[in-house]
Amino acid sequence: MSRLVNSVKSFSTTASSLLSDATAASVRPPSFKVCRDVPSIRGLRRQLLQKERTVGFVPTMGAIHEGHLSLIRAAARENTDIFVSIFVNPTQFGVTEDLSSYPRTWDADVEKLEKLNEELERLGENSASAGRITAIFAPTSKAMYPCLPPSSEVDGHGSFVTITPLSTKLEGASRPVFFRGVATVCMKLFNITTPDRVYFGQKDVQQTVVIKRMVKDFHIGTEVRIIETTREHDGLALSSRNVYLGDRRRTVGLTIYKALKAAENAYLTGKTSREDILGAAQSVAQSVLAQQQGLSPSERALYEVDYISLADPDTLDELETVEPTKGAVLSTAFKMAPLEETNAGEDCGLGDGKVPVRLIDNLILHPRA
Ligand code: AMP
Repeated sequence: MSRLVNSVKSFSTTASSLLSDATAASVRPPSFKVCRDVPSIRGLRRQLLQKERTVGFVPTMGAIHEGHLSLIRAAARENTDIFVSIFVNPTQFGVTEDLSSYPRTWDADVEKLEKLNEELERLGENSASAGRITAIFAPTSKAMYPCLPPSSEVDGHGSFVTITPLSTKLEGASRPVFFRGVATVCMKLFNITTPDRVYFGQKDVQQTVVIKRMVKDFHIGTEVRIIETTREHDGLALSSRNVYLGDRRRTVGLTIYKALKAAENAYLTGKTSREDILGAAQSVAQSVLAQQQGLSPSERALYEVDYISLADPDTLDELETVEPTKGAVLSTAFKMAPLEETNAGEDCGLGDGKVPVRLIDNLILHPRA
């Protein structure tokens, strides 16, 4: 764990100051500025506005992976400048959820973003439209929550943005403060960075619906772009939390994708009823679980299906029948339990298989032509 808890401490240096200090041509200076407070990112935004440059904003909680990079690549196709935020937002973690165990990988994150900027620079040599990461915004909690300490209590005090009833469904049913935290931090980040466009991953489908609603209802002057889910070769959606899975839970956890694909297949072969579509997913989820339950504790990985949902793409209301001209969102959450017994030499993931892992995934059932 300690190699991951690499706290964000020593990065007050800005790319611009390093640029001017860089004497040795062999030492490549950071290509972006790192801002830890609101005035510095605002100052940069003002300068870019004066130069009529456009800003695409990609909010993250760090532990950067290819999924995050795909959002940045999308932002680079449409904007001259990209701001990436790295902030593990305390208010979206419930009181029983472990904020401290969320992976923090600052050095590796900066390295990945630097590499991506090199890639974007190469692309830019052949095209005038390729933007670059200009700044990482990595604020302190105090900068983001200046008046009261952030509260994760359902009835805690603070200035919050609530988007209901969207926030109470699906993920919100078992994580009551989650979308209040997400909407609140995104509102703050959008106010601070005033981006032309914001980029979110399809992977967190309910988040995309909540953010689109917030932008519409609060007349926020930005365009919301949703970028498709990046997956591993076998279909597992990339997630910062996957580092906790280890081999055994990763193999069994792939059931989440297989269950969704079974349901999608039912829709693609003409089924429209909830029973037929969700039945296909439930049957996969139940049969794999039954198989695992038949194994010994040192061989198996158990899980609980929190929900499998077939919902309207705009309201997330559950559907009895999919209207083929509108389509639907198929989404699910699996709670991978800690391993009961581990074996010598087994890759059990970060935390030795003891950390429960919540996996979420979804597929869009597109309208039929
Ligand atoms: P996070 O750091 O997990 O809060 O994610 C930051 C952004 O990356 C969110 O908009 C996520 O939806 C998006 N994201 C996370 N995983 C993926 C993925 N596998 N594919 C595409 N986008 C993703």
